[in-house]
Amino acid sequence: MTRTNSPAPYDVAVVGAGVLGAWTAYQLQTSGARTVLVDAHGPGNSRSSSGDESRIMRMGYGADEIYTRSAVRSLKLWKKLFADSDDALFIETGVLWLAHEGDPYPVQTRETLQKLGVRCEHLTTGELGKRFPQFQLEGVTWGLLEPDSGVVLARRAVQTVTREAMRCGVEYLQEAVAPPDDAGQIDAIVTVSGRRITAEKFVFACGPWLPKMFPRLLGERIHPTRQEVFYFGAPASDSRFRPPLMPTWIDFNDEAYGLPEIDGRGVKIAIDRHGPVFDPDQGDRLASSAGLSEVRECLARRLPGLKDAPLLESRVCQYENTSNGDFLIDRHPDFENVWLVGGGSGHGFKHGPAVGEYVAARIAGRSEGIEPRFSLQSKKSTRERAVY
Ligand SMILES: Cc1cc2nc3c(=O)[nH]c(=O)nc-3n(C[C@H](O)[C@H](O)[C@H](O)COP(=O)(O)OP(=O)(O)OC[C@H]3O[C@@H](n4cnc5c(N)ncnc54)[C@H](O)[C@@H]3O)c2cc1C
Repeated sequence: MTRTNSPAPYDVAVVGAGVLGAWTAYQLQTSGARTVLVDAHGPGNSRSSSGDESRIMRMGYGADEIYTRSAVRSLKLWKKLFADSDDALFIETGVLWLAHEGDPYPVQTRETLQKLGVRCEHLTTGELGKRFPQFQLEGVTWGLLEPDSGVVLARRAVQTVTREAMRCGVEYLQEAVAPPDDAGQIDAIVTVSGRRITAEKFVFACGPWLPKMFPRLLGERIHPTRQEVFYFGAPASDSRFRPPLMPTWIDFNDEAYGLPEIDGRGVKIAIDRHGPVFDPDQGDRLASSAGLSEVRECLARRLPGLKDAPLLESRVCQYENTSNGDFLIDRHPDFENVWLVGGGSGHGFKHGPAVGEYVAARIAGRSEGIEPRFSLQSKKSTRERAVY
């Protein structure tokens, strides 16, 4: 990395236009920093973790108030973005937690939501059966409904954030950036095609590629895992599986979640358990027959009306897990002007706006200090998931 005497054309270069990088670039630019955003494959591309059709926008996080606060702030900013851009990409489906006897998580979720003034409803199994008769409630002892939560249409939302960022002055480049090979203060990053991008500060928001970008530092701290997602076709004219009749639902006890049919893409269902290690560049993105059998069993148990529904589509995505699921947002210890932003760990999408705001405030010097839970120091090589 060589130094030049000319002033950098950009205040900040953000590498990675997934949800975290796109929002960071947008927030930087709108707070006055000249920003360039660079992505190897394009915003919301199919290899990225942000590239699927939809992501759940829930407020509940058990006792983890920090993420509930972040989700509340983010929902507000998502709604503002969509209102400003005329893209209705938040669907208020409601989010229904299916709670099981003795599971503290939904109880803590309810307490946190109530404490922070987030609207939620406690439903008995009788009430659940009346309001959501499409669900079979075996093993469920009560339900918690977040009526104002829902789904963000993920891939398109990332493209919208990027487009709005560009409208505000962000320059976007489709280039793959090579890992920085120096230390100390860097002036520029270089793309694999040889282009040099000079800036004062750099943000690497490369999602599951962060371990490839910084193998020595992050190779053991971020673990990309293979995750399968399935979309099933509801019977024609059957509105029970679409909003407003069908909410998004989460059953962490059974490690499953599902989304109603949106945009005619099918009813989505997935297992929320870490899969095998996955390479975001070369990994095979054909879903497995074992994965299909597992979600079919889950459908038969929870949504019997979809027991024999045809599979419309499947996707393989990856979580980029930190040791416990907390985000990584910190400076690179070897580069004074490089920030690392990632570790979404299967729950990060919804927080894009708040993460962008957090990073922009620190880079601009408006806020000091790093939340200890987001620090590099807190990231271990062990895998003990604690944040869901
Ligand atoms: C199956 C699944 C379900 C999920 N469900 C939810 C959910 O319901 N709710 C929720 O909130 N979250 C959910 N998540 C998590 C969420 O999607 C991720 O945490 C989030 O999308 C991560 O965003 P990111 O910007 O960090 O990474 P990414 O979206 O992967 O973006 C990284 C970007 O960096 C670019 N890049 C990488 N290397 C380079 C390079 N060298 N040069 C230039 N560009 C580069 C890539 O092309 C990519 O676009 C889920 C994730 C998965 C996989």
